[in-house]
Amino acid sequence: MAMSCDHPDLLPLPEALGRLWAALPGPTLAELRAGRDDPATDRAAMDGVALRSADGRAPRRLLGTLFAGDDPATFAVTPGTAVRIMTGAALPPGADAIVPVEQLETEGTQIQLRVTPDPGDHVRSRGDQARTGELLLPAGTPRNAARVALLAQEGLALPAQPRIRVGVASTGNELVASPAPYQIRDSNGPMLAELARVLGAEVQLRPALPDDPAALAAALLNPGDIRILLTSGGVSMGEHDHLPAVLEGLGATILFHKIRLKPGKPMLAALLGDLLVLGLPGNPVSAYLNALLFLPQALARLEGRAAPDPWRRGRLTAAVKNKGDRPLLHPCRLREGQLEPLPGKGSADLVTLAQADAFAWIEQGGLEAGVKTRCLVVV
Ligand code: AMP
Ligand code: MG
Repeated sequence: MAMSCDHPDLLPLPEALGRLWAALPGPTLAELRAGRDDPATDRAAMDGVALRSADGRAPRRLLGTLFAGDDPATFAVTPGTAVRIMTGAALPPGADAIVPVEQLETEGTQIQLRVTPDPGDHVRSRGDQARTGELLLPAGTPRNAARVALLAQEGLALPAQPRIRVGVASTGNELVASPAPYQIRDSNGPMLAELARVLGAEVQLRPALPDDPAALAAALLNPGDIRILLTSGGVSMGEHDHLPAVLEGLGATILFHKIRLKPGKPMLAALLGDLLVLGLPGNPVSAYLNALLFLPQALARLEGRAAPDPWRRGRLTAAVKNKGDRPLLHPCRLREGQLEPLPGKGSADLVTLAQADAFAWIEQGGLEAGVKTRCLVVV
């Protein structure tokens, strides 16, 4: 595995995302072939009248109306006749063109044309989208809503994808409901629960866990009915940062621990049996940004969707320094596609996090005003 030279123990972000992707099962679609021509008959593409183009602009007499789903054999279009037809209805025998209602004048059952029809006008011809047996989707295609529709069209409806169940548990002895000045409330728990809900997960917000290896191990061994556990805190180098060792002690597979990103270096991902543990750092900005990077990736993979690309691009309205040795995500306001850097005070700065619209990617050395860079938009 490629590690960065200046930080041999820190995994670059794309590789961390790739490792997470590769470690999770990704259900994909089987090969899909057309069971019949699409469309299976010539169809009207507009509301209007179906007629023979060979008769030019001659007036026509209306025989009746065909709606989508009607059997077209009810009528036969002959010289001097036409059939009123609605979008999606099959063309009656004899007709080869549609003249839209906007291009007609109707008096009783007589119509005059304002245009000269050509064969095939406003007709979706049989098989013009696909022929019977044609390959529609190769095996291994990720799921999306349009592909679900294509399967449904072929009579192969997929079951609705159940929401992935995500548990959220903060860690830290300092987290209490009514804090003394040396304690704090759990803000990460509600934040991550809200983010997971917005990203489409079914969320269970748990009470915060103490910094106690036995309590952490018990929570990990009895996670309840969830597929992903989002923890925050306890993954860095402090003496109370027990999560990595507890996971290892339980025989978990550590996918990665520590990534090349500021903020959010201590990020950990592990598999404990089927349970994916995303061990987010405790600082709110780090927890938020890592959840925004890794949770959509995990959800997409587990749901069989394509890997999401959370990045947008914007131009910086002011220079941002980065004297560190990791890429920096810097809080910004987003105004008409421009990134206005905020005076962020680092990874503990929940106030600036709550004011930010996006986080700009700042390479080592910093970026000048006017430079375009990618950014993560806050959800
Ligand atoms: P840790 O990663 O556990 O060392 O925590 C890093 C910092 O984030 C510490 O200042 C913690 O108090 C703070 N922190 C940890 N968990 C939370 C939480 N759930 N809500 C708010 N702040 C937290
Ligand atoms: Mg802690």
